[in-house]
This record gives sequence, C-alpha cells and structure tokens, in this order.
Amino acid sequence: MAEEKHRTPETKEIKKNSKRSSVLGSSVDVWAAQCNNCCKWREIPTEEEYEEIRRNISQDPFTCNKILSFSCDDSSDLEYSSECIWVFDKPNLPKTPPGFKRWLVLRKDHSKMDCYYVTPYGKKLRASTEVATFLGEHPEYKDVALTDFSFTTPKIATDTIPQDVAGKKRSSSQVD
Ligand SMILES: [Zn+2]
Repeated sequence: MAEEKHRTPETKEIKKNSKRSSVLGSSVDVWAAQCNNCCKWREIPTEEEYEEIRRNISQDPFTCNKILSFSCDDSSDLEYSSECIWVFDKPNLPKTPPGFKRWLVLRKDHSKMDCYYVTPYGKKLRASTEVATFLGEHPEYKDVALTDFSFTTPKIATDTIPQDVAGKKRSSSQVD
C-alpha cells in the first residue's frame, strides 16, 4: 500500500469539507505532484499547470525545480495524510482543451468519482459519445479532438477517507 503511493507520480487532493462541490462543480481543491528525485509532494498552483505536468509525466517526470524558484532542498508543507482525501490520477491523461472544464465529483458515499466535461457553452458532457456529438455539431471546435478528452477517473486513496464513511463502505464496493 505505502509503496504504491510513492510510485504514483501525481495526485489530486480534495478537502474533506467541500460539501458544496458535489452540486456546483469539481470536488478537487488542490493539485499536487510528487517529485521523482526527493519524493516530496508539491502543490501545483493551477489546474492548467497540473494538467500540463500530467500530460507527459511518464516521459518527463515531475521534479521540484519545475515549479518556479523551488528545489529539492526546500521543505514541503504538503504531506500525504488523512487531513484531506487524496485521489490519484492516471498518468498521461490529455490536457483539457481551452475553454472546456474537466470536473471530478466525489460521490457522497466516497465510493468513486464521476468525471465530466463542461463545454464553453455550459453544457455537460458525460461520455465520449456526447463529446463526439458536441464536436460534430460545433465546427468552431474543429481543432479539438475526441482524444483530448478522457473520462478516466482517479483512484481514491481509501486510507484517507474519513473513518465514519469508510466503515460503512468498505465491505460493499471495492471493485476496480
Ligand atoms: Zn524534489
């Protein structure tokens, strides 16, 4: 378990107290990546920068000095702990096209996250087929490809789920 955490190059972090988010938008409050050299976690200032790092992380691993003015010698105030719920993205997911938003919403029972995209017109797209339809109907996005979208959801670190929720859940759905 512990080892797996360290092999995972990136994470997204969710604060426990973001109740509003399940209705209004993404559950993710903080983006972070783990340095390939010193293993410290670093907060990534914006989702866009985070996605840029994630896009190519297998070929171009994250290191502290990719954040302006940071080096591996600097201490980190970000620790992997159950203060927040941590979820781990798959590496090399595509960067969200300009104008679109990728939303990850944690289910109330913490069993999984749901992923969808919001178009520049505010329409929610919940599956690749809906993306294809949208792109077909909107030639102004002809430079946007279907492969720029991924509905792969991050893996929830079950050891960071609050005890009261985890106790109820763990027996029922621990698939994928
Ligand atoms: Zn480092």
